[in-house]
Amino acid sequence: MTILSARQKLQHFMSVQSENSDLLKAQYRAFTRQMPMMYFILLSSTWALAITHMQFAPLWLTVAMPALFTAGCMLRVMFWWRTRGIDPKPDVAHAALVRANRLAIGIATIFTAWSFLLVPYGNAYTQSHVAFYMAITVISCIFCLMYVRSAAFIVALIVNGAFVVFFVASKQPTFIAIAINVLLVCAGMMSILMTNYRNFERMVVSQQRTQALSNENLQLANIDSLTDLPNRRAFFAHLEAELEKAKVEGTRLALGVIDLDGFKPVNDLYGHSVGDRLLVKVSSRLATALKASRAFRLGGDEFAIVAPIVPEDEQLVANANAISEQLRAPYHMPEGTVHVSASMGIAVFPNLASTLEQLFDRADYALYHAKKTRRGGAVLFDAEHEKQINIEARIEHLLKQADLENELSVVFQPIVDVCCQKTVGFEALARWSNPTLGHVSPAQFFSIAERAGIVGSLTRPLLKKALACALKWEEHLRFSFNLSAHDLNSCEGVLSLIGIIENSGFDARRLDLEITETAFAHDFEQVKQSVEVLRRLGCGISLDDFGTGYSSLTRLHALPLTKIKVDRSFVTGLHERPASYKIVKSLLTLSRDMGLECVVEGVETPEELAALAGLGGTLVQGYVYSPPLREEDVGEFLSRKSIDIAVTGHQ
Ligand code: C2E
Ligand code: CA
Ligand code: CA
Repeated sequence: MTILSARQKLQHFMSVQSENSDLLKAQYRAFTRQMPMMYFILLSSTWALAITHMQFAPLWLTVAMPALFTAGCMLRVMFWWRTRGIDPKPDVAHAALVRANRLAIGIATIFTAWSFLLVPYGNAYTQSHVAFYMAITVISCIFCLMYVRSAAFIVALIVNGAFVVFFVASKQPTFIAIAINVLLVCAGMMSILMTNYRNFERMVVSQQRTQALSNENLQLANIDSLTDLPNRRAFFAHLEAELEKAKVEGTRLALGVIDLDGFKPVNDLYGHSVGDRLLVKVSSRLATALKASRAFRLGGDEFAIVAPIVPEDEQLVANANAISEQLRAPYHMPEGTVHVSASMGIAVFPNLASTLEQLFDRADYALYHAKKTRRGGAVLFDAEHEKQINIEARIEHLLKQADLENELSVVFQPIVDVCCQKTVGFEALARWSNPTLGHVSPAQFFSIAERAGIVGSLTRPLLKKALACALKWEEHLRFSFNLSAHDLNSCEGVLSLIGIIENSGFDARRLDLEITETAFAHDFEQVKQSVEVLRRLGCGISLDDFGTGYSSLTRLHALPLTKIKVDRSFVTGLHERPASYKIVKSLLTLSRDMGLECVVEGVETPEELAALAGLGGTLVQGYVYSPPLREEDVGEFLSRKSIDIAVTGHQ
């Protein structure tokens, strides 16, 4: 090591480094914590030395000077005490540490000088006390200044330098020995201090890295990696913060929940990579369509908008529809032009929604209605929806408590072959009559049971009852039974159905299980597997409400279907509505091409029936032949010589 580099090194140790602001702050904090202790040691040792010298030395040395030191130290401690809780800025911390360095020079010099001034007074005992005082105090102070290395060096250098020179110069062997001893101990301590300080430095740097990493993780945890929009987690945090703000400021807050229509077919038809790129395009369109609001991706093809500035309801819906409009414009991809639309449900705080959960649930409820009634448009949650929610909650409550074995019953609607005017089978339809609610529509209580996850407890008793009736029928009659998505999305559910079918003694090959397209929307693979198991058992599989579920043909093709049932909505006014006529025509052609039987549902009038027959439709179900019948009326219906085309009373 050259002399220059040794000097540079010394300079480095004795000055406050300012490159790392976190290190500066950590030093500052450690120093402020240990400062009072340092002054306490310094003053208590000083007063101890002053007291042993009182009878020998003049008062200005034994009382006045220690009192002055005490006052000075107290002032310093008070200053630090006041600023102790403050998280300093790097430049403030740097300035404070530089000041501490300078003060270390002053304090070390003054206290050393004072100690030496006491030496000429007193005897060998008191002189030994001075040596002890200096040695012990400097060691303690170095310890307290451990994290301000420069100040520790300054103190060690000044006090020990003077100490060694002074006591070696005394030529007293004991003092010389003490001086050498103190010098060696201090050198050892300084080396420990250096190691300690390096560890401290490393600890701060590693904390910095950890912090940076966790900041990065936090950022990643809140961003959707595909679209770069803030994700579901960020959404809830943002919504919560905005809601609190709106509560405090008494302002309105709107939440829009968006679900893309027709996204799944795009995924199926073009593959996931196109689906992903479409989501990226939708996200960027959504983000640019917004001004003060923020967009989030909640997952899949679901997005959300949080709008802190909310116009009047009418304008709000108009704005939302404008966004849906922009999202509906065609997406040009290298693979082809893709069309999707965006349905949106909106809820506004504080109107009809006062908590985060309520706001989200109600926007979701409005979305559900948008999907059903205003596909590709926006629906605002309103008082009517609230009323509906209350009714549904009541139904759910009573459904959970109901004696289902007794309250549920089954009616049967004939399916007729129009060519030979013969009944070919019956569809079982559930009826629920509750002591409090009276008759509840199956469409309503099944959708509630689906949402509440209790549909299995309805399906099982219904299937048992229906099979017990069907067992009495002639063997050429088929029997259809409706299943819900929840009946099929678990292995246990399917196994219990198989158990019921096998125990009933009814030939599974005469059974058609009806499933709607929406059943496949949840977990396509699981539902497909369940359907395959049932198909292997011999059951037929009918796709119910065909045409309403927007499923892609590729998907449907993957299923072992035996029949499709054309939804009633296409049949109403078939003979006078060209659009319906065309749809039914193409659905009939499609089913023929796919080699599937086709039942047309909800045929109410002879005119509709005639139009249908003209299109080649053979299997018909509807009021035109019969409403659903009670079990005891089935026999009578079958015993008729010919099936009248007449509308009788409904069950
Ligand atoms: P779905 O399976 O499409 O049943 C056909 C519905 O259309 C029945 O309504 C039936 O009564 C009605 N319908 C039949 N012909 C005509 C007609 O000519 N005109 C009109 N306007 N309607 C006709 P229902 O019995 O009220 O059942 C409604 C829905 O409830 C069913 O629709 C089905 O989705 C569900 N459902 C009924 N029973 C069950 C069941 O046991 N299990 C499951 N999972 N769902 C069921
Ligand atoms: Ca059905
Ligand atoms: Ca149907």
